[in-house]
Amino acid sequence: MTTNKLTWLENELQGLKDQGLFNTIRTIGSAQGAWIVVDGKKVLNFCSNNYLGVADHPRMKAAAQAAIEKYGTGPAAVRSIAGTLDLHVELERRLAAFKGVEDALYVQSGFVANQAAIAPLVGKEDVIFTDRLNHASIIDGCRLSSAKIIVYDHCDVADAEAKIKEQLPQYRRGLLVTDGVFSMDGDVAPLDKICDVCDRYGVISMVDDAHGEGVLGRGGRGIVDHFGLHGKFDVEIGTLSKAFGVVGGVIAGKKVLVDWMRQRGRPFLFSSATTAADTAACMAAVDLLEESTELVDRLWANAKLFQTEMAKLGFNTGHSETPITPVILGENQVAQQFSRKLFERNIFAMPIVFPTVPKGTARIRVMISASHSAADLEQGLEAFQQVGKELGVI
Ligand SMILES: *Cc1c(COP(=O)(O)O)cnc(C)c1O
Repeated sequence: MTTNKLTWLENELQGLKDQGLFNTIRTIGSAQGAWIVVDGKKVLNFCSNNYLGVADHPRMKAAAQAAIEKYGTGPAAVRSIAGTLDLHVELERRLAAFKGVEDALYVQSGFVANQAAIAPLVGKEDVIFTDRLNHASIIDGCRLSSAKIIVYDHCDVADAEAKIKEQLPQYRRGLLVTDGVFSMDGDVAPLDKICDVCDRYGVISMVDDAHGEGVLGRGGRGIVDHFGLHGKFDVEIGTLSKAFGVVGGVIAGKKVLVDWMRQRGRPFLFSSATTAADTAACMAAVDLLEESTELVDRLWANAKLFQTEMAKLGFNTGHSETPITPVILGENQVAQQFSRKLFERNIFAMPIVFPTVPKGTARIRVMISASHSAADLEQGLEAFQQVGKELGVI
């Protein structure tokens, strides 16, 4: 019998719908920016990772177009066989200089960077110490390595140290990995203390700076710059899909580390390179960031204004230290209803529910961008106030 093999999927999907956990995916019909077209309707965008608003920047688009003219569309090979363009090498040089590291490897995405970077460093005889709230791509990267995985409490350096002390002697090598900025709450890992513990015990240190690049540090140079830890953190993972407004991931650090990734990083070796257009656009983003801090400054000014006003209105915006603004509402259904009502008022802000966040902490996560004008923020605040009152949240 083959007919009933997939019936369980219908039950699973119905179960998600019944619990308010079914994720309805909206489709965008415009460029990314402060205002976008969602399912045919023009709305104020409060949920993209386009922190600096450069995803639609004229210089980025011109760079991508020029690259297509010169190099065509697809790379036609993996990087290690015939897919490495001079553009890739140039971008890696530029990213390393921007971040203040010896070398960098540009891969297909931030997710892929974590798949690529962990397994070459630790294996069956080794141990990984990982923050409880690390991103899914880190969790999967850890699993791929076959190392023993030890979870420590969220941002709890004392717990990490106790676990390192207890476990490390039983293994050949240890790696500690943490998100830099935690994407659901906007809090920042205590990187200075983590670095210190890793150094004392000889554990390799790794940070995923996906939400820190273009946001934290001088001119958006990232979390390592924010803490002044240049040359001290062993592995820095990054993405070019958020503040940089394009797509791609990066593995950065000492030359010896990046050289090893070029030999052993499986997605680098077995999956095709990013396109010339993407790579050239990323380079234009680095240009923009190196030329001026204006976009980063505006991002922070917008975020501070929005967060201050939301707190004044009486919303629970958690303990964010970055432009990520969680508006914590509690039950899944409330968050979903809140999002629908915002959408009716032309505000696009998606609900985030279990299992992405713990049960009882369903939320709307507002992503502030440098592209929001003062009028945009005001309109957003007004809509939040109206819906908050309507639903009895404030
Ligand atoms: C978004 C994110 C990623 C994935 O980056 P992509 O470039 O979109 O694949 C990886 N790690 C963290 C911590 C992220 O927030």
